[in-house]
Amino acid sequence: MEKILEVENLHVTFTTYGGTVKAVRGVDFHLNEGETLAIVGESGCGKSVTSNAIMRLIPDPPGKITNGTILFKGENLAAFSEKKMRSIRGVDISMIFQDPMTALNPTLTIGTQLMEGLQEHRNVSGKEARKKAIEMMDLVGIPNPEERLKQYPHQFSGGMRQRIVIAIALICEPDLLIADEPTTALDVTIQAQILELFEKIQGTTGVSIILITHDLGVVAKIADRIAVMYAGKIIETGTKREIFYNPQHPYTQGLLNSVPRLDLAEERLTPIDGTPPDLFSPPDACPFAARCPYVMEVCDKVYPAKTELTGSHRVNCWLQDDRAKQLIAVK
Ligand code: SF4
Repeated sequence: MEKILEVENLHVTFTTYGGTVKAVRGVDFHLNEGETLAIVGESGCGKSVTSNAIMRLIPDPPGKITNGTILFKGENLAAFSEKKMRSIRGVDISMIFQDPMTALNPTLTIGTQLMEGLQEHRNVSGKEARKKAIEMMDLVGIPNPEERLKQYPHQFSGGMRQRIVIAIALICEPDLLIADEPTTALDVTIQAQILELFEKIQGTTGVSIILITHDLGVVAKIADRIAVMYAGKIIETGTKREIFYNPQHPYTQGLLNSVPRLDLAEERLTPIDGTPPDLFSPPDACPFAARCPYVMEVCDKVYPAKTELTGSHRVNCWLQDDRAKQLIAVK
């Protein structure tokens, strides 16, 4: 499978009065064409900063991409000028944000908002843009699209607004769609409909998707592969089956143990005790050490290297690395 995106050694910092926040600390991952990769983790783990870095939407200052490459179809987005990025955003790479109401302009009709990106970037006539807008409304399941193009965002329900945001993101036929918590602001039944819509759209258009979420239920529904982030680093990646049925990092195991399961009659949820490290001065060694039930001496001293468990499953944890025994023996 061809890789559409390869992120290597990405570092993002934010300079504040209190010091420098190391929000993303050497992130590596790739996305294959036509697949959905979910990036999961707690609030503040760096997942949204990573997606904003791909779009080059980190406000500088205070933010800065301090290191790394973001190869999109072989070209390094991190080195692009702002002008070049403007020609890519919304055209080759689109983004969907959490709250559909703030993503839409309340003073413009849905038709205007759908067509403006297309007319600006694709140089199409008003008639062609309208035809495409109707097609997109139809694709995302908005009934009576010709009439509804004339309406304003407040005339749509929350779920319908999110469908419109998705239609706007897809109207220029991007190769990559980044969805940052796209269902968090919606109620559960609408969430399920929107997730089904993502599957349908991917089947129809072949778009590659990065899904940023803290919700493992969303991940279980539509992800092909999963990258788990903690304290600015990716600590485990694998296929959905590998992560759900054979998680190897204690943090991934903790995340899964803290999700309610309907298939178990009696179950106690196990929270992960403690809090993530302060990203003003994160540890050089394993960032999960202070919360990990299996912590060893080496964990507080050296950051665990990547261990390849299968061709698709890798983890950064000393428990999986035979070199831990040698390091412990040497001390
Ligand atoms: Fe726990 Fe050590 Fe693995 Fe970190 S490296 S998750 S502290 S066992």
